[in-house]
Amino acid sequence: MLGKYGLQPCDIKSCHAGNRFGRLQVLAVGVKGSYRYYAICKCDCGAEKAIRVDGLKSGVVLSCGCLQKEVSTKHGMYTSPHYSRWRGILDRCENPASPSFLDYGGRGIKVCERWHDIANFISDLPDGFEPGLEIDRIDNDGHYCPGNIRWSTKQSNSCNRRSTRLITHNGATRTAKEWSLLLGGAHGLVAERIDEFGWSEERAVTTPIADRHENILRAQQKRWAGHVKTPKRETHPKAPRTVELDGKQVTALDISKITGKPVKLIRKQLFERNWPIEKVLMKG
Ligand SMILES: [Zn+2]
Repeated sequence: MLGKYGLQPCDIKSCHAGNRFGRLQVLAVGVKGSYRYYAICKCDCGAEKAIRVDGLKSGVVLSCGCLQKEVSTKHGMYTSPHYSRWRGILDRCENPASPSFLDYGGRGIKVCERWHDIANFISDLPDGFEPGLEIDRIDNDGHYCPGNIRWSTKQSNSCNRRSTRLITHNGATRTAKEWSLLLGGAHGLVAERIDEFGWSEERAVTTPIADRHENILRAQQKRWAGHVKTPKRETHPKAPRTVELDGKQVTALDISKITGKPVKLIRKQLFERNWPIEKVLMKG
């Protein structure tokens, strides 16, 4: 059987006749050249195929290819415009590695069992889809399930609750967005102050935008590293730092005595600028 695939018989521990990987049952294992191991497998669909052993072991290959064919033709899902939406929703809710997981799965938002099948998901989508629209949950704390989603534009989706919230101050009622514009700020300014920085509504609509304290706070909270200076220099090193000179360890003070240059300058050149010792030893 091996000869048919141009393989030499061989023995490897992790994969031998009788092992099963997904739909594949290993019949024999052989090697091509000195290191390309192949398993001749019988697929549940009846096909026989030689498959790279590393593909089997890593779990990438689970069938002769019939599995992918079934999956992709059953619902035509990979080409569906809703496939990436469906994938994204599952990802946000169930994959802790997803960047948005904290805002979804992390706070208990689930995808209903029925929608784990993309065919159900697509058939349950509300009418009115147009390109450019996104899926939005009606109840923002509710799950992804029939009845709790609608189509919305990108902007209304993210600004939904935040910018259209009404805030009354001094007898005037405006949306958060209107208050923001009134202050001369960006659309989301007031909402951001309230939601992200925990300000009171009054403070959010009355504080002028150029407030220095707020800018610093924003920078810190948003971790704009470049905007916030964090002193990095270690102040008082416990043991004096030394460098090697002619086979001996010397301190900045020692070099200062040799060169006549101030100790502080020597330290700077040696330990902050990382000058080579020869350069430090030069006069002036
Ligand atoms: Zn198959």
